[in-house]
Amino acid sequence: PARVVIVGAGQGGFQAAASLRQEKFEGEILLIGAEEGLPYQRPPLSKAYLKSGDAEALNLRPAAFFEKNDVTLRPGTRVTSIDRDAQRVQAGGSEIPYDHLILATGTSNLRPTIEGLDRALDLRTLVDAQRLRVAMEDAERCAVIGGGFIGLEFAAVARGLGRRVIVAEASDRLMARVVSPEMSARFADKHCEIGTELALGRTVTSVSSGGIAFDDGTEMPADLVLLAAGVRPNDDLAREAGLACDNGIVVDATLLTADPAISALGDCAAFPDPRTGRMVRLESVQAATDHARAVARRLVHGTEDPYAAVPWFWSDQADWKLQITGFGRPQDDSVRTENGAILRFDGEVLSAVETVNDAKTHMKSRRLMAAALTDPGAGLVRDRLASVGYDL
Ligand code: FAD
Repeated sequence: PARVVIVGAGQGGFQAAASLRQEKFEGEILLIGAEEGLPYQRPPLSKAYLKSGDAEALNLRPAAFFEKNDVTLRPGTRVTSIDRDAQRVQAGGSEIPYDHLILATGTSNLRPTIEGLDRALDLRTLVDAQRLRVAMEDAERCAVIGGGFIGLEFAAVARGLGRRVIVAEASDRLMARVVSPEMSARFADKHCEIGTELALGRTVTSVSSGGIAFDDGTEMPADLVLLAAGVRPNDDLAREAGLACDNGIVVDATLLTADPAISALGDCAAFPDPRTGRMVRLESVQAATDHARAVARRLVHGTEDPYAAVPWFWSDQADWKLQITGFGRPQDDSVRTENGAILRFDGEVLSAVETVNDAKTHMKSRRLMAAALTDPGAGLVRDRLASVGYDL
C-alpha cells in the first residue's frame, strides 16, 4: 500500500506506525486519534501517575519521533465513518483516502444501568486520570465499582494515600474473569490486610452525592466514586461499515478483516487464539504491540504467518506484582506449585501461569509456553507436569 491510515493513536496505533517504519515502509502514514496530545501509555494511569501526576512521563515517544519518522499525527480528531468502496474515512469534516486502513480504536468503559452513574468518574484516558487525581485530593472516602485490575490498582493507591476505600464487585470474587479462584482469594486477603473494605457479590444500584447504594438498600458513604466495571470494544465504526463484529472486530489469524484493505488490532480486535483456535479479545499492552508488529510485517513484506504470541499481563497492587502468562477461562482447573505459582489447565493443557512477585517463574513460563506453541509436543500437559511436581 502507498498510504496507510491508522484509526486510534493509542498503544497499538502508535506501534503500528513505528513498526511500519522499522520494517522500512516507504509510503505515507497517517495516525488519527480522538484524544489530544501525543500517544501515551495507559498502564501508569492507575499506578505511578496517580501518585506523581507526571503526564509527560507517559508519552510513548516525544513529538520529534513523529517528525523524524514522517508519521503524520492528527490528534483530537475522531473518524466518524468508513467508505469501503471508495477507500476513504471521514474525519473532522474531511474525506481521507487510504490504501490500507488499520483500526486500533481500543475500548470504552462499560456503563451498567446504575442510577446517577454520571456522578462516577472513569479511568480510561489521561483526561480521566487528571480529573480523578484532583477529585482524590479532597476525598476522604472512595468507592470503586468493579473489582478488576483497574479498580483494584486504584484502590491500592488510594489506600496508600490514606483514603478510606470500599471496592464493590458483583461477582463473588476479585478479577474473576482473568485469574484463578485461588489468586482471587489471595488478593482479597491482601486488600483486606491493607485496610480496603471489599463488598463481594454485591450489586451497586445507585450513585448519589452521598455515596453508593446496593440492591439490598444498604448505603455506603463516599466522596468519590470510580466506575471500573469493565469495557466494551470500540467496534461501531467497523460494524457500521458492514464488517463482522462479535465482542470485537472479527479478524483472521493474520489480523485482517474480511475486507483485504482493513486490519484491526489491539483491544478492539477479536482474533483466533493460536493455541486453541477460539476467538478471543485481549486487553493488554502485549497484545496491542505484538499485533501491530505482525500487521506491519504483513503490509511491508507480504508475510502471512498466523499471529502467534503468548499473551501475558501484569497488575501492580500495593507491593504485589501479579503476572500472568497465557490466559485461563473461569472454569479452568488450577494447581498451586511449591513456590506459590498457580498453573491453570484447560483440560489436559496448561492454559495459564499466575505468579506474584516472582519475575523469574513468569519469564520461564513465557519461554516454555512460547516453545509449546511452535512444538505441541513440548510437554506442557498435565500428566507430564504432575510427574515433575508441577515444577516448570
Ligand atoms: P488504546 O490504547 O485504548 O487506544 C485506542 C485509541 O483509539 C484511544 O486513544 C481512542 O481515543 C482512539 N479512538 C477510538 N475511536 C476512535 C475514532 N473513531 N477516531 C479516532 N480515534 C479513536 N494493560 C497491560 O498490559 N498492563 C497494565 O498494567 C494495564 N493497565 C491499564 C490501566 C488503565 C487505567 C487502563 C485504562 C488500561 C490498562 N491496560 C493495561 C490496558 C492497555 O492500556 C490496553 O490494552 C492498550 O492501551 C490497548 O491498546 P489499543 O491501541 O488497542 O487501545
